Amino acid sequence: MYLYNSLSHKKELFVPNNPELVKMYTCGPTVYHYAHIGNLRTYIMEDVLEKALRYVGYPVKRVMNITDVGHLASDADTGEDKMLKGAKRENKTVMDIAKFYTDAFFADCQKLNIKRPDVVEPATNCIDEYIEMVQKLLNDGKAYLTGGNVYFDTSTLDKYYVFGDHDEEDLAVGVREGVEEDSNKKNKNDFVLWFTKSKFEDQALKWDSPWGVGYPGWHIECSCISMKHLGEDLDIHAGGIDNAFPHHTNEIAQSESYMGHKWCNYWFHVHHLNTDTGKMSKSKGEFLTVSLLESKGYDPMAYRLFCLQSHYRRNLVFSWENLDNAVQAYDKLIAKIATLKNEGEVDAAAFDALKERFVGALNGDLNTSLAVTALYDVLKAKCNDATKLAALADFDQVMSLNLIAAAEALNKKQAEEAAASADPEIDALVAARTEAKKAKNWAEADRIRDELKARGIEIIDTPQGAKWRKV
Ligand code: AMP
Ligand code: ZN
Repeated sequence: MYLYNSLSHKKELFVPNNPELVKMYTCGPTVYHYAHIGNLRTYIMEDVLEKALRYVGYPVKRVMNITDVGHLASDADTGEDKMLKGAKRENKTVMDIAKFYTDAFFADCQKLNIKRPDVVEPATNCIDEYIEMVQKLLNDGKAYLTGGNVYFDTSTLDKYYVFGDHDEEDLAVGVREGVEEDSNKKNKNDFVLWFTKSKFEDQALKWDSPWGVGYPGWHIECSCISMKHLGEDLDIHAGGIDNAFPHHTNEIAQSESYMGHKWCNYWFHVHHLNTDTGKMSKSKGEFLTVSLLESKGYDPMAYRLFCLQSHYRRNLVFSWENLDNAVQAYDKLIAKIATLKNEGEVDAAAFDALKERFVGALNGDLNTSLAVTALYDVLKAKCNDATKLAALADFDQVMSLNLIAAAEALNKKQAEEAAASADPEIDALVAARTEAKKAKNWAEADRIRDELKARGIEIIDTPQGAKWRKV
């Protein structure tokens, strides 16, 4: 499989450290509010990546954190604590907020067929691990204690901007939003590993540490949680493109300084879902959630298809019109699958040819829009229905669009509707009219048609015979 690696800015052949177990880490949500559908675009594409890896034959262990402490309003360690902000907004405790929005996040994931990672670890579970890492970085002269906080010293690094496409200007974003800069830092890029003194005296979650009572910085959680469950050699680290800097840059700085060697080989970044007014974000007030889409009558599967129709490295623009187009595409796809009859033997050669195209799409830097085209190729293929159904069910292990179940549900619904509107008496009258016509008894045929019309029934003559419907 070829994947674009943000570290090298190239598509690279994916070669895991150990093909017996691909180790994958993904940054999880900050659980101070609902996930918006932009966040969920990132989780959908990461889900497809995990499933594609499994599909082409790699066993995968995937780990995700839940940020329930330490993430400040600006990614550059400044601004208000996001969890505290959520707790104040709803007049609840931080832990109540964390539980509520963690459950809400996984409920949304379930609706979108996003598989739960093998390990999900809340940041508050790993305080000992953070303290251990921070202590070693201090002992090794890679970190310093000043003004009550422990900072990572970026001047100890050979290279800080590892992704090569950021600079000091990017760090200033938080400052431009009206947040003060931290004057304790020796270097502008230094970041907090452990806070003890902060301007937020009402910080709800605090722990003892060798440097005083406090709480971890945001970046340290991903380094430690990843290492706790996946060791020191990570194959893939994934997240939204905004996480590349400073979050992933800082993760790399501290992890590799701690380990003394390279940590992760492939960095997979999903680009943003934007609205016509810019990036979708939780801090902008009103934002789109899965529940909101559902309340407007949208099937979450249509949103999943909407995401799959475009490549993860392109910005995707959300509009209701674009979503409506995805709904139409989804409904058409399901209606076509519903007409397939599961009869006959699967043709292995035809199946393999279809699968080759599908795998080719995944292997080309997870080209999900081509993978969607491969679904239409199945429907157009010159093979029997059993082969088509087998291919669609197989591909849906990765696409997770409920293809077969939704088609079955549609058939069932149509059969129920037909049964609900069945009426043997009307059927008998329609049959009697057909007989009268055959016998050229036009007067009787017209009489029956008029009688049915009076009862609100219209007869439709089709090549397959006369049908009727209520008008
Ligand atoms: P958060 O809950 O804010 O920590 O973000 C969760 C994930 O969503 C991270 O991987 C972010 O990079 C990603 N993300 C944030 N905004 C967007 C967006 N508009 N489109 C796609 N992904 C996003
Ligand atoms: Zn992270």
